[in-house]
Amino acid sequence: MPELAYLNGVIRPINETYVPIEDRGYQFGDAVYEFIASYNGKLFCLQEHLDRLEKSMEGLSFPKVDRKFIQNAIDELFEKAGMARAGLYIQISRGVAPRDHAWAKDIKLQIIMTIKNVIELDSKIRDQGIDIITVQDERWSNCDIKTVQILFNAMAKQKAKDQGAFDAIFISKDGIVREGTSSNFFLVKDGGLITHPLTKNILPGITRMVVMDLARNLGIKAEEKFLSKTDLFSAEEAFLTGTVTEILGIKTIDGVPIGKGKPGEITQKLYRALREKAE
Ligand code: PMP
Repeated sequence: MPELAYLNGVIRPINETYVPIEDRGYQFGDAVYEFIASYNGKLFCLQEHLDRLEKSMEGLSFPKVDRKFIQNAIDELFEKAGMARAGLYIQISRGVAPRDHAWAKDIKLQIIMTIKNVIELDSKIRDQGIDIITVQDERWSNCDIKTVQILFNAMAKQKAKDQGAFDAIFISKDGIVREGTSSNFFLVKDGGLITHPLTKNILPGITRMVVMDLARNLGIKAEEKFLSKTDLFSAEEAFLTGTVTEILGIKTIDGVPIGKGKPGEITQKLYRALREKAE
């Protein structure tokens, strides 16, 4: 089955689907999105993604959409594509209108989706861990809303790649460790997990939440605390979490080895538990 796209109720191959040029998502970044992965033909944490999508829409004062309508659209595309290990991207923009900063009351939301096979990360990278860099967080102050305004994230990821690293994490101007460019950040200290509390400065990651639950079930302490950049270098382990990333152990940060310089035992244990839960 080819990679498919959904545009306002019509499903067609991706390369035959076009969005109108005056979509506000395109011109103003006035859109929200989710990326949902499937394992063995089942979308993982679909309800949690829909919850967050609704919150993001509320955050931008979008009109409410019947959740069943969105879920049915997702199900239809997912079933039509018939992919066991799919990545489904859904984006809802405020709509299409002549370019103007303010919008008309009767503007109609535009829903698009794409579905593609997930390309699994090279297992060598997962086994050896990744090198990451730190970047000062210069994003806006509503990072809890999952909008398509992720240019700074894209630039930070590119900066990391240009320096031969895999990814970047954002550090606030005051030295607080926030999150990755498309992932949340955890470190392990005294055998327990620590991650940034849920504030407006990070995205409430679904994998983050799943990992905290898995940890507690495994008897691993999981805390939400502010971490400073200096805390990074005394960590026993560190990893990123995300729908695409899953759980990815960190080898070095800004060239400094973390723990033993490879994914640690807790990271690996949690990764296995996550795959087991998802599959
Ligand atoms: N933070 C940011 C900035 C992200 O883009 C993502 C990926 N959506 C995450 C965290 C992780 O979220 P999730 O686990 O829901 O994929």
